[in-house]
Amino acid sequence: MDGSTNDAPNDAPKEGTTEIDLYEILGVPPTASKAEIRKAYHKKALASHPDKVPPEQREEAEAQFKAASQAYEILNDEEKRHLYDTHGMAAFDGSGGPGMGPEVNMEDILNMFGMGGGVPGMGRGGRKMRRSPDENQKYEVSLMDLYKGKTVRFTSTKNVICSKCNGTGGADKAKPKECASCKGQGIKQVVSQVGPGMLTQRMVECGACEGTGQVFNPKDKCKKCKGKRTTEEKKQLELYIPRGAREGDQIRLEGEADQVPGAEQTGDIVFHLVEQPDDVFQRAGNDLSAKLEITLAEALTGFHRVVLQHLDGRGIELRHPQVPGQILRPGEVLRVPGEGMPIKKSEAKGDLYLVVDVRFPDDGYFSDPHVLEQLQKLLPGPPPPIEAEETDEVTWEQADIEDIGGPEAHEAWEDEDGPHHAQCQTQ
Ligand SMILES: [Zn+2]
Ligand SMILES: [Zn+2]
Repeated sequence: MDGSTNDAPNDAPKEGTTEIDLYEILGVPPTASKAEIRKAYHKKALASHPDKVPPEQREEAEAQFKAASQAYEILNDEEKRHLYDTHGMAAFDGSGGPGMGPEVNMEDILNMFGMGGGVPGMGRGGRKMRRSPDENQKYEVSLMDLYKGKTVRFTSTKNVICSKCNGTGGADKAKPKECASCKGQGIKQVVSQVGPGMLTQRMVECGACEGTGQVFNPKDKCKKCKGKRTTEEKKQLELYIPRGAREGDQIRLEGEADQVPGAEQTGDIVFHLVEQPDDVFQRAGNDLSAKLEITLAEALTGFHRVVLQHLDGRGIELRHPQVPGQILRPGEVLRVPGEGMPIKKSEAKGDLYLVVDVRFPDDGYFSDPHVLEQLQKLLPGPPPPIEAEETDEVTWEQADIEDIGGPEAHEAWEDEDGPHHAQCQTQ
């Protein structure tokens, strides 16, 4: 799947120069993701490591290693990859353009690969477009939708190659002229300052001709696209989010990105899922957790009720204890097998963990001395007495955990009157 001699239709080279194919060097298709490129590079780099090959192959291995490194350097960088995809190696001509180390000559390297034939960096000959760029978008999705799965229909407005001029931008039989701004190169060198006294040169696409190197006279422009080479088209698309999908999952709508004239393939729309936090449930992989709030009476005597509503709307009914006399304490965790998140591509689900929180009665709930006495009789008594030579009965006041350490522990808190004055709010 490659076709390394195809060129943009406008300016096919006359003498059939061989285009360097960085994708071929790494052995990946032009559609390869960043991760695939990285993997392929690591494989190549490892295979051509000088220690791994016999001495007589060392030189060749070294060259292969360098070529793979150069290919990786360009393809791993989105901006460089785009330049390469749209302009081929022309964007990185011999002048030591982006990514070209001073001591490495790309042409030498490629000759060793049997892919030589001159670096077609001199203008139009090397221009070649493989694939229009992917369109990356974040898609926020609720935990409920990730639990149940969801299909979203939406209308996408995409650029498609103009059907009237086939993407040339010109009227029938009109001849374009060379773009004056870039002298027909389609790319221009820009110098920008990256630091005090530090200048960097890089190649960017020419804006005047949108990288084609050619422009039409106003009267020669295609009537349908007005010379823009593409037209807008609305399309109904469907985004399917499978049950159990996770934050960071990518959903690709293949070939649905904008079409770019001259590109052999059209990029994808890639949705990157972002999980929205839920009020009730927290997710950890395939498991869910939630707070189980019970009353003091329930903690001591048990309960049998619906304790929460699941993400699909079901009530989750729980009976506690399973053994008479069991008490639930704050912070205890109950596991409910099979009530976590669905696991993608299976019928299985993770588990649900319920973390116990005991809700104590409000102040004053037990104010009747008779009731208090009864409670005291029912509940366990005090711990065994502490034997001390001397005891002091002390007073106390309501405080906050933040108060510990006093002003010293909280530098912002400055009060010359001392901690007592500043802290006694409650009595
Ligand atoms: Zn047109
Ligand atoms: Zn131009």
